[in-house]
Amino acid sequence: MIELVKIVKQIKLMPDAAQAPAFERTLPAINDAANWASQMAFEHFGLKGSVRELRKLCYGELKARGFGAQAAQHIIKRVADAYTALRANIRAGNLGPEKSKRRRKAESKPIVFRPHAAHTYDDRCLSWNYDAQTMSIWTLDGRVRNIRFACSPEVLKELAEHRQGESDLVFRDGKWFLTATCEVPEPEVFEPKDFIGVDRGIVNLATTSDGDNHQGRRLGRYRRWQARKRAELQAKQTRSAKQLLKKRARKEARHATHVNHKVAKEVVAVAQRTARGIALEELQGIRERVTVPRDQRARLSSWPFHQLGAFIAYKAKRAGVPFIEVDPAYTSQRCPRCSHTERGNRPTRDHFHCRRCGLAGPADVVAGVNVRTRARSAWVFVNMPDSVPAI
Ligand SMILES: [Zn+2]
Repeated sequence: MIELVKIVKQIKLMPDAAQAPAFERTLPAINDAANWASQMAFEHFGLKGSVRELRKLCYGELKARGFGAQAAQHIIKRVADAYTALRANIRAGNLGPEKSKRRRKAESKPIVFRPHAAHTYDDRCLSWNYDAQTMSIWTLDGRVRNIRFACSPEVLKELAEHRQGESDLVFRDGKWFLTATCEVPEPEVFEPKDFIGVDRGIVNLATTSDGDNHQGRRLGRYRRWQARKRAELQAKQTRSAKQLLKKRARKEARHATHVNHKVAKEVVAVAQRTARGIALEELQGIRERVTVPRDQRARLSSWPFHQLGAFIAYKAKRAGVPFIEVDPAYTSQRCPRCSHTERGNRPTRDHFHCRRCGLAGPADVVAGVNVRTRARSAWVFVNMPDSVPAI
């Protein structure tokens, strides 16, 4: 049986000047209605309102406010889901113990939705024309047709072939996006000829055992520039400066995500082309292993190493590329030629020089090679559970 995996794709909507006002009116109106329904739910059922109960209570009024049957249903479902999630969080203790201030606060008032909180559309409120790269979408001003959308050719292909079910309309920093769900068949993992060992680092985000470096310096410069701008803004303590700061932080995070996606894609493409698997160090090793000056430590801990690993794992899975994580201990201090392991093999952060056999090279490549070596033995172990090791 073929397993299906759900993946989420985001596209950017580009409503023109005539289309934009309908959008700008609709999302706040939906959230306003959701807040009203939430208030009603809270008054009648506390945190316990079900979809069925809320429908009885709110459906008529929502229709009267100009929402179509589908839109009204979606609003009701979203409100009921929000209370279900809150109940689950309380049960799980995420809001603290029973009498805690946070929990009492959450229990004492209705859930509130932000004016531009994302809202879910299903295929009855939304239709796609992939060839023309346009869509039509329900709004309070009626159906708006021929809205252009932007995405990469790969995403477009994925959407055309595998998109299923609901999409979320998202408004962020003045722009409109849709996140659509695709259900794609998961390919079988191929038998690798070898492994690519990947070392994650600060300067080079990813260095492979082939000696390939993946973009780091350009990003470092970008981050330093961002940090300077941030410092300038922090110096001003005004409200608008704070808002700008938040916006900038989001932009920065998006940029880092973008770069991580790109690096992960490159690594997986090479592995697929050369019929090799990918090996990474297990994450908890990274901060212990790297010794960096104190002023750089913040940068290291904030750097999304984790995200890069998650992206590589995910893209590998989607491509049928074998992926494993290996023990990170001493991968930066061990000599790949003679196995001699000591801290002195790594005189500086960037250089490796074996004190026994003299092998020298870039430290991150050496680490990548060590990761590969571990992957080779680990893979045999994983895939031959019944074999008896030779003694
Ligand atoms: Zn050596």
